[in-house]
Amino acid sequence: MDFNIAIDGPAGAGKSTVARIIAEKLNMTYIDTGAMYRAITLLAIRHNKRDVKDIIELANQAQIKLSKGSIYINDEDVSDAIRSVDVNSEVSKIARIPEIRLAMVQLQREMAKNKGVVMDGRDIGTTVLPDAKYKFYLTANVKERALRRHREMLAKGEKVTLEDIEKEIIRRDHQDTNRDLSPLKAAEDSIIIDTTDKTVQQVVEDIINIVKRGEGIVL
Ligand code: C5P
Repeated sequence: MDFNIAIDGPAGAGKSTVARIIAEKLNMTYIDTGAMYRAITLLAIRHNKRDVKDIIELANQAQIKLSKGSIYINDEDVSDAIRSVDVNSEVSKIARIPEIRLAMVQLQREMAKNKGVVMDGRDIGTTVLPDAKYKFYLTANVKERALRRHREMLAKGEKVTLEDIEKEIIRRDHQDTNRDLSPLKAAEDSIIIDTTDKTVQQVVEDIINIVKRGEGIVL
């Protein structure tokens, strides 16, 4: 496909699940930009670094790679480790460091330069790929988002309460929406989809139909 699809939205809106399926169906490459910020957060936690300068240095030295749905730091598969409660609670702080964002955005643009990517995150439609042909902003009410994340965490054996997840999501949304550099925001030309009462299947269908119509593919 010679176009890119940007999918943004708050935590738990279903972006990554939907983006992954769409990429598969359209034979495109899925890029989870949240995983990149999470990987740097994991590095900072492991090395016990809190100072911005130290974290930037760690990020510069590490090789972060996305491949076939997994994420690697210097060839170690950290796909599960980046979803921990600790990373959840720290990631927004790391993601607002301007030097980290600039480096990540550059990497993300590089990955999308040959087109054919479905990229999800917070600032894809506004900052990373403002020229993406298709832009979607997925949202859902906070209770539903917390429920979804809670189910996901329980399935992985993490012991967390629904209340804690809800608090964490509200805090993360607040930090992501209010940071100075490329905050979470729907691009003006994005299509907003409220997924509160929709199944994953329905959201995928809505998006695929819009793309097919845009590409002149008969449904
Ligand atoms: O998408 P996910 O919930 O894994 O993202 C984790 C965090 O990474 C977000 O809460 C946000 O702080 C940060 N992020 C970001 N910009 C992106 C993707 C994620 O700031 N494009």
